Amino acid sequence: MTITATDEQRSILDLGLTSIRVRAGAGTGKTTTVAMVIANLVESHDIEPERILGMTFTNKAAAELAGRVAEFLPESVDPSRQVEVHTYHGFAAQVLAEYGALAGVDNRSGVITPTFARQLIRDVFFAVPHAKLDMTWSGTLDNIRKLGDQLGDHLLRPEDIIKASAIHGGDEVWAKRVEIAETLSRYNDAKAELAVVDYADLVTLSTRLLQRHTGLAETIRRRYRAVVLDEYQDTNPAQRVLLMTIFSGGFPVIAVGDEDQTIYEWRGASSENFDLFMEHFPTQDGRPAHDTSLTLNRRSGPGILDIANEVRQMANPGSDVLRPAEPDVTEVTTHWASDALAEAEWIARQFESLHDEGSSWADMAVLFRKNKDFPVIMDVLGRHEIPLEVANVGGLLGVPEISHLRAWLTVLDNPGDSTSIAQILLGTGYRLGIADLAALTRQLTTTGPDADDAEDPQPVTLVEAIERADEIVDLGTEARARLGRFHLVYRELLVEAQGLSLAETCRIVLDRTRAWQDIEALPDSARLTARLNIYRFLDLADDWSPLSGRPSLTAFLEYLQAMEDEPAEELDTARLSGEDAVTLVTVHRAKGLEWENVAIPAVVKDNFPARSGGFPDPIRFAYQLPVEFRLDTVVSDLPDDEDARRSFLRRRHEAQEWRVAYVAVTRAKRRLLVTGSYWYGLPEPRATPAEPSALFQLIESSPGTIDGGHAPPGPRPALLRSPDDSPSPDPLFEGGWRSGLLMARENPAHIRDLARERGVEDEYLRLIDEWEGRLFDLDDAGEPVVAEDEKTISVTGLVTYAQCPKRFYWAEIDPLPRRRNPAAVRGSEIHRQIELHQRGEVPFEDLEHDLYDAIEPADEAPGAFAAYQASRFADRQADLVEAAFSVGLENDYQVRGRIDAVYREDDHWEVVDFKTGRPSSDPSRIVQLQAYAIAARDVLELPAESRLDVTFAYLGGGLSEATTRADQAWVDEARSRLTQLTDDIERGEFMATPGEWCHGCDFLRFCEPGRRETGS
Ligand code: SF4
Repeated sequence: MTITATDEQRSILDLGLTSIRVRAGAGTGKTTTVAMVIANLVESHDIEPERILGMTFTNKAAAELAGRVAEFLPESVDPSRQVEVHTYHGFAAQVLAEYGALAGVDNRSGVITPTFARQLIRDVFFAVPHAKLDMTWSGTLDNIRKLGDQLGDHLLRPEDIIKASAIHGGDEVWAKRVEIAETLSRYNDAKAELAVVDYADLVTLSTRLLQRHTGLAETIRRRYRAVVLDEYQDTNPAQRVLLMTIFSGGFPVIAVGDEDQTIYEWRGASSENFDLFMEHFPTQDGRPAHDTSLTLNRRSGPGILDIANEVRQMANPGSDVLRPAEPDVTEVTTHWASDALAEAEWIARQFESLHDEGSSWADMAVLFRKNKDFPVIMDVLGRHEIPLEVANVGGLLGVPEISHLRAWLTVLDNPGDSTSIAQILLGTGYRLGIADLAALTRQLTTTGPDADDAEDPQPVTLVEAIERADEIVDLGTEARARLGRFHLVYRELLVEAQGLSLAETCRIVLDRTRAWQDIEALPDSARLTARLNIYRFLDLADDWSPLSGRPSLTAFLEYLQAMEDEPAEELDTARLSGEDAVTLVTVHRAKGLEWENVAIPAVVKDNFPARSGGFPDPIRFAYQLPVEFRLDTVVSDLPDDEDARRSFLRRRHEAQEWRVAYVAVTRAKRRLLVTGSYWYGLPEPRATPAEPSALFQLIESSPGTIDGGHAPPGPRPALLRSPDDSPSPDPLFEGGWRSGLLMARENPAHIRDLARERGVEDEYLRLIDEWEGRLFDLDDAGEPVVAEDEKTISVTGLVTYAQCPKRFYWAEIDPLPRRRNPAAVRGSEIHRQIELHQRGEVPFEDLEHDLYDAIEPADEAPGAFAAYQASRFADRQADLVEAAFSVGLENDYQVRGRIDAVYREDDHWEVVDFKTGRPSSDPSRIVQLQAYAIAARDVLELPAESRLDVTFAYLGGGLSEATTRADQAWVDEARSRLTQLTDDIERGEFMATPGEWCHGCDFLRFCEPGRRETGS
């Protein structure tokens, strides 16, 4: 194959057999250059192909590289003499396979994937109790994995941490770190028992082996005459040490990479490897390796490259400038829409016109920064009948046909899984309604083997209830017939799936549930999309084999669950089917791929670039490897001061986000569409409109960018919802739930009438009661609705967190059921009355003292409202009452709350919080006044010289006041306390801190430390 080398490539080839670093910008023909270098070594330096070692990251890249090299080799070379191309891990695995016995590693050891690793860690973690690690929080497993990965990245063992803890002291962080290391040590034992190793072990064990048996490195080195390292910027320090152990000291090593495409720093890649390559791998005469660069971009046209260069400067000021190889016309267009649906519509229409103009669907891709933005684009492009290929496995598990198949597999594995049965029954195959399910589920406790014994109902499974559907009087004939059909299919599948392989089981489920017929009935584009998704899932089932034992359905389903929880499986470049479909993929998985036309949606502030909380602080977080243990020095200048440290880590994280943006924009060859909108969140939009991100603004203001329209700001829509053209899933509301809601708005009695007609009135009333009860339990019902991903916290939440992070976790993050609290209801009533009184709306004599004043029935002291009446606050007019506020902290958190009353006398301000209970010694309470003081200073903008007091007025058992002077120093300290608390929340610190407050905690029955504290 003849390709003329460019001047840049020629100058690299001319350097010949020596150590070289090649800085290859995006689209500059990196793989071609690597193949040219190898062919040149064979042709011009008489090196046998099999004595050249190539390395890259994924099996796919290794296969591609081997293919390219074969194309470039001179015809005179025997085609059976091939260059040896490995992945970095594959090379380490080969060293172990050959010499592992010397390190005590069975050379037949299997290599486990990150998902299996997670399963094993989970097993060893839950096998023993832990004093410091939270066993109820799923994030603990992630943290164990994180420290385990970092140990591997820096050639350490868990025992190194345990030993070092003796020197580094026994503070809380180290105590936790030691528990994590102990878990990892047991994980290593479990791997040894199963005769398996994980990816990190491959590098660690092989490096140790070579360092201990020095002659082995020389033996391996003698096999080769040159090494070519691809994607070198993504290697970790352990991989670099392995390579140096064998190939340092003048051996010709050629490393190709792009420091500005390092997007895996958070999972161990060290930018220092690429930066210091010239020192690590000097030339034979001891001089630093040659440093060269490729800047001629063959992929994209000038307009896209202008943007790419600007983005690259944001990531790495002073980096090389990419030059276009061809002056082809390219287009960069931005569009700002009113909301996420309109944004997706715009992308769909652009893709349709490109298709009309002759582009294939396969030439188009949508690149996402975050998985959460997939569904709306997937939905709208699907409605436009555009064929799609979802290239992320995590996204695949969420598409309807795969979710449905998984539900059937789950039911076959576990007939007690009511959620999966309900999903199937409510789906398009059986179309049962909520009322039918309610009738069915009532049988779960009222029917049983001893159904006649009404005194002692026995629980049954949903499948058993379905078996007796004929006996359920509330079910209509049609519903009974549908349940009968479900039951028949279920029984057939149970019999037929016996002894089948997983892939066969999936196929038989698809056959029996008539999934293929349903897919055939879809329009062309949707049919192709569904087929691609199912084939990808069948491939997954085919390829899968378990860690131990035979491949069972249970183990496979557990594997899927673990895969959903384990993002590390999602990181390699996506493999595309080659079908004519638009690719939907995250930017991380798009690295190494390219398309003619690329759309990047949701380029809005805090989404892309993602909001930067910074890399985790190794001093504060147990799961971070302390700096002194690292093999590199990239964070060795970590400041001691906490604030300085935070901004240092944040800057590093921001630079990585810009590198992700650089990868995204350089995937496009001809057209780049960059979009955003004001409103996101389906069906309920976020509380505040989104703004264009710095990336959007940069692209929008670039001279060559086409303005594709900017919608004017509009009010927040009540709901964002795609038009629902599917038939009603619920026979109770034939026109669909939306029309049911509209009817209820017209006539509130309508739904109850309907329920009565259908004979489900009791069920309806019970549900209404249940929901009303939940509404009573809402603490801050009056506060604005906030979006899930917005960094917002209520004052109540902050106080709870300060008191006990675990309690906050169970209240806000992963809510557990709470008790209905009559005292809270009474408290709300008293506050409401105080507010009305302050507004002059309710005369004292109208109040019902019996209701509002009773703190405890036996208490002889005056009631809460009586105490208020007698206080200095009752006859003063407050300037502000029940004043809602929202104040921002330095870490971008918004704290929201409501101040009971603000009084003012000249330049003296007093913020008062009325408490219906007695004075408390709980130190966390002060957080509330701290938030109020900040709000008063920031929102009321009090002059600096004005006096501000903050007061708790306790009304329970007679008035008691606690006032604090909130001068500037006090408020500054308050601000840093609140920032600290919210930082801790952001970091996922949710340790239980038991104390006297456990007695009143809703979660006491779930909480071991709380029960120990209270002796219950
Ligand atoms: S019982 Fe105590 S320790 Fe447990 S969550 Fe509640 S307040 Fe925290």
